[in-house]
Amino acid sequence: MLFDDVPFPACLGAGQDRGVPVEREGSLLASCCADREKGSEAVSPVAIVWPCPLAVDAYAAAGREVGFPRPPCPSCAGPLVFWSGYRRYVRAAGRCRKIFVPRLRCARCGVSHALLPAFTLAWRLDVAETIGSVLAEVAGGGCGVRPAAERAGVPYETARGWVRRFRARGRELGVAFAAVAVELGGAAVTPPAGAGRFALAAVGAAFTAAAGLPGWGRVGAWRFASAVTGGRLIAVNTVSPWYVVGRRRFMPPIPP
Ligand SMILES: [Zn+2]
Repeated sequence: MLFDDVPFPACLGAGQDRGVPVEREGSLLASCCADREKGSEAVSPVAIVWPCPLAVDAYAAAGREVGFPRPPCPSCAGPLVFWSGYRRYVRAAGRCRKIFVPRLRCARCGVSHALLPAFTLAWRLDVAETIGSVLAEVAGGGCGVRPAAERAGVPYETARGWVRRFRARGRELGVAFAAVAVELGGAAVTPPAGAGRFALAAVGAAFTAAAGLPGWGRVGAWRFASAVTGGRLIAVNTVSPWYVVGRRRFMPPIPP
């Protein structure tokens, strides 16, 4: 069987929202340690998030047969080769699915990178659209956390954590996405009051600009946000991938 459909809450307890152990998707901690599966293999602190347009079920069903892109190494721009992978859970529409995440290895750097589909965020169980819907409702001022969490079918504490993190990072995210919007030829963002609203406005402006480019419109705003941030939209660590990756802003390649 290529994948398992596990209904929530069989795969985790209430309040948990980690889709995968931290070391699998690359953390600053993990980058200091050898990958246990490969002995001497170093694990990148930066996951590569590709703008996967597939529905979660279609991606899960395809297993290793998904038409994965093979972007260049984010550190040295050299060629990457497929190098094992792992399975992790994602939750969409209240159900957990197990998906395959390949790893790509750079021989030059001796580092492997997880290649995450953009419907995931690093270390988060829920898909980008679920998290984004809660952020848009609550940080946008439309309602409180509790009704948004109920509508999204996620535990209250989980949703509250997303909103807190998004607001805490709101100014940083707002500045970064506003810059992406301008770089893509979009409108300049006038920051509204409140860090969360600023971040929302900037993500929206950047996606509006990106949607005019081939391939991006069908991906949707929250997958776009995950792709641009390397899955770290609401990560604890505040290292911005557009600084980590080659010391310049990074736009993931668009699949053919
Ligand atoms: Zn490299």
